[in-house]
Amino acid sequence: MVKEQGTGKREQGTEAIKGKRLASVENIAGSFVERPKAIAALRAQIASGSVRASGLAAEYYASIEQKNPHLNVYLSLTKERALAQAARVDDLASKGDPLPALAGIPVGIKDVLVVKGAPATAGSKILAGYHPPYDATVVSKLEAAGAVLLGKTNCDEFAMGSSNENSAYGPVRNPVDTERVPGGSSGGSAAAVAANMAVATLGSDTGGSIRQPASFCGVVGVLPTYGRVSRYGLIAFASSLDRVGPFAANVRDAATMLSVIAGHDPHDATSSPAPVDGYATESDKPVEGMRIGVPAEYFAEGLDAQVRAEIEKGIDALRSAGCTIKPVSLPHTKYAVPVYYLIATAEASANLARFDGVRYGYRSPVPATLSDMYSHSRDEGFGAEVKRRILLGTYALSAGYYDAYYRKAQQVRRILAEEFLRAFAEVDAIVTPTAPTAAFKIGEKSDDPLAMYLADIYTVTASLAGICGVTVPCGATSAGLPVGMQVLATHFGESKAFRVARAVEAAHL
Ligand code: GLN
Repeated sequence: MVKEQGTGKREQGTEAIKGKRLASVENIAGSFVERPKAIAALRAQIASGSVRASGLAAEYYASIEQKNPHLNVYLSLTKERALAQAARVDDLASKGDPLPALAGIPVGIKDVLVVKGAPATAGSKILAGYHPPYDATVVSKLEAAGAVLLGKTNCDEFAMGSSNENSAYGPVRNPVDTERVPGGSSGGSAAAVAANMAVATLGSDTGGSIRQPASFCGVVGVLPTYGRVSRYGLIAFASSLDRVGPFAANVRDAATMLSVIAGHDPHDATSSPAPVDGYATESDKPVEGMRIGVPAEYFAEGLDAQVRAEIEKGIDALRSAGCTIKPVSLPHTKYAVPVYYLIATAEASANLARFDGVRYGYRSPVPATLSDMYSHSRDEGFGAEVKRRILLGTYALSAGYYDAYYRKAQQVRRILAEEFLRAFAEVDAIVTPTAPTAAFKIGEKSDDPLAMYLADIYTVTASLAGICGVTVPCGATSAGLPVGMQVLATHFGESKAFRVARAVEAAHL
């Protein structure tokens, strides 16, 4: 049910989706998977006038209206802004003017990125009622390229989680099987593409939050190199790890999206001036002669046998396409999960200190003292997982423990990064499973944080090393659940990762 929000000044032009009681699973017949058309095909239709951007936006809103009560993908819609943008694109098209790369393409934005005037919750109650006064750089870039912003997608609270069950606004359901999680933390953005509730979306990835949900929902997800994409307007989780990247239904579309959002941003000192490639064109190049590394550490205990079998078929497909497959060694991989959870929680405890009930969102009603206001607002506003991480992170940073935990974790992080760089001296890309299992059931791991953390085993190392990667659908389990292959490349090696991912996609496993 998509309801109009009140007409309070700050809320004009946006709609929050209320009454998000999920339809019961018994009522759901079949899966919600329905892939969008490719960006290039849609754009050509818009340019020729056979499809109107306004009509397309209306179609997507109708699809959202129908599916959102079942899947809980969108938290709010930006209809007024979307329709105004679609009208501008239609106007350009009718004049025969050249159209930008994403003209009329309906996109969704993870609710950790700010869109001017639209609610930005980060999946948290503590940000309820916050309407940022500016657009994230990636949002401005998408719009400048003609994209139509449909709305904000659901996610784990402050992007902390691997299942989307940590959202204060209810879990997202996996469009492939609604009893299962879509992955997380960018579960809404992955599910939106799988269910054709957007043609492409943006997410954020700190330790796997784009790659793992993309793999669980059977879509493509990109972890750009640290610094490749501006984070101005991203609500911070762990600043030395956070990245923004796209989801799309195919590799070429994901590459097109990355070319639009990448590049230096004067508002983000951590963004790189390195030139941005035409990633879609680069992804068209053949893989023949490329050297592909396979690390034994990613095929060890804990990897589901069916997932392993599908990834092995993917590796065979690369061999058939003319790649040389070589073993590579990443022996410190086993330390990546503890190192990640030390660094990520330490940085989160610092970043989340700003949510104190004073400047943003939720404030506890009638606290007795100033100190009560801070503690009650934080206690009532944050969910259990976020509190767990703030406590862990504060502990790891506290005097006397800093050297034993945070500094040590940073030292091991350096070793993990060096191991990757040594491997990339020998190979063009490294392939691994994206996750050790396919999508798990809602509730299956929610009472066991350690089991949930361990599920990040294949994604956190690339996050710590700052390198880039693409996850691409690579077959399915016997139950029809998608499997994803992670293709990693060195810093600013996105073009190579896209090429390899295209070859896996072309094998139709
Ligand atoms: N699942 C990981 C975590 O919970 C990664 C989250 C992310 O990448 N934002 O921290």
